[in-house]
Amino acid sequence: MLQYPHLEKALKYHFGYDNFRPGQQQIIEDALQNRDLMVVMPTGGGKSLCFQLPALLKPGLTVVVSPLIALMQDQVEALRNNNIAATFLNSSLNQYQVRSREDALMKGKVKLLYVAPERLVSERFLPLVDVVAEKVGIANFVIDEAHCVSEWGHDFRPEYRQLILLRKRYPHVPTIALTATATDRVRADIIQQLGLKQPSIHIASFNRQNLYYEVRAKSKRTYAELLEIVRENEGSGIIYCLTRKKVDELTFKLQNDKVSALSYHAGLSDEERAKNQTRFIRDDVRVMVATIAFGMGINKPDVRFVVHYDLPRNIESYYQESGRAGRDAEPSRCTLFYSYSDVKTIEWSINQKPDSQEQLIAKQQLRQIIDYAEGTVCRRTIQLGYFGERFAGNCGNCDNCRYPKPVEDWTIEAMKFLSCVARCKERYGMLYIIDVLRGVKNQKITQNKHDQLSTYGIGKDRTVDQWRMLGRSLLHQGLLDQSSDGYSILKLNPLSWEVMRKQHQVLIAVPVTPKITWEDRTGK
Ligand code: ADP
Ligand code: ZN
Repeated sequence: MLQYPHLEKALKYHFGYDNFRPGQQQIIEDALQNRDLMVVMPTGGGKSLCFQLPALLKPGLTVVVSPLIALMQDQVEALRNNNIAATFLNSSLNQYQVRSREDALMKGKVKLLYVAPERLVSERFLPLVDVVAEKVGIANFVIDEAHCVSEWGHDFRPEYRQLILLRKRYPHVPTIALTATATDRVRADIIQQLGLKQPSIHIASFNRQNLYYEVRAKSKRTYAELLEIVRENEGSGIIYCLTRKKVDELTFKLQNDKVSALSYHAGLSDEERAKNQTRFIRDDVRVMVATIAFGMGINKPDVRFVVHYDLPRNIESYYQESGRAGRDAEPSRCTLFYSYSDVKTIEWSINQKPDSQEQLIAKQQLRQIIDYAEGTVCRRTIQLGYFGERFAGNCGNCDNCRYPKPVEDWTIEAMKFLSCVARCKERYGMLYIIDVLRGVKNQKITQNKHDQLSTYGIGKDRTVDQWRMLGRSLLHQGLLDQSSDGYSILKLNPLSWEVMRKQHQVLIAVPVTPKITWEDRTGK
């Protein structure tokens, strides 16, 4: 049945593995047939092998486009450790090194070349590619992290757009595009932007069964909870924060609490970053506190927990970043601390973007991550749904599945809330409305004569937090709108009126924070 019965032998011979991972063999067979390929696999799925083995089995040079110097170096080092003729060209090399590597290329001594996109398509470099194409032959162009070509991905890099030039200049060289980003949109973009011809498309499941996903509300206890997470797990962990300042502050705090932690962000020198990264990978230090600058290409298999101390910008980034946990398939934990003020911070930064199309995309993505954070269904259903994968739920390995939140009927409260928005003429934000509902006495309310409204003080039986939770849930369920002019004024929409007319039931999940330890969760 197999067209290439020798493939497993080659796998064993070159890489020392006994079996292919799901999908790898079929992909490799397609590559050997010189087809254009689009490979979508989650991080850790084993994408590299899908082009590395064909590169060794086909005549000629395979050119791998890779966006990051660190990524190239790691892969080339790993290949060389397996005695495979691989090399890279990037700005970290001196002129002499570049010369000698180019020389090796032209002599056909190299099977895999890793190169940055801007170098590959440069006027200076293309003539060299021409020579190699003529003398040695080019087996494949491989575009790693291919989502960088799409504005809809999480890491758009304009220089990737120039890669179409390769297709035009070398129309007969097949292209393999690989990514861990799988939305339909990005997929379509990759195919179009790279000019793939009837590509064979392989999409692996994105379900990472060994990861436990949970979302916790930020509170005064957040740091204490973080410490618990760090102390319950003996292995390594990554904690992501939004800003460099927060990274440094948190590292300092953790160090004071005797946690072996280091910082990683773009404000550190290259040397310091490299040093901290190496220490983390070698287990000299247990916890890396980082901005999102840390991660792409970090191939540490035994990361036991990834904590997001701040809300990530979109589900895609969250999936990728949290996915750095548990590459070795052992149980690992992904915790997201969520607060509505993080949403506000991100909204603010989106509003600073000059391009309205970009704003639109970013806002839609923010909406989706809010849905994830506030969602009461299986976290996997939400995540995988985002990647176009249907997942029935009940994964048994996320907070919502293990500890379902009780759903309560809050229709009456919602009617009170929305009526109050109406009575205040849709001119105020959430906190003001809550003050009126709770009958707070302050100058603004008295001046506006809102203490004379029929809705004044009708919500004393609920706390500010409860009202806020309801308000957010109404927004989230689309039963209420909010102006996006920076003032977040609450506005009614047709569904709000349905609620007020009691034509629409309002159910909300009441968050409970279970006091359960990690041991309970993993069943250890
Ligand atoms: P990705 O690029 O998809 O994130 P990698 O290509 O880095 O994943 O592979 C992840 C890990 O899995 C690497 O450590 C790699 O050596 C290992 N791996 C890949 N294929 C196999 C295989 N067939 N058998 C065993 N290990 C594999
Ligand atoms: Zn679940």
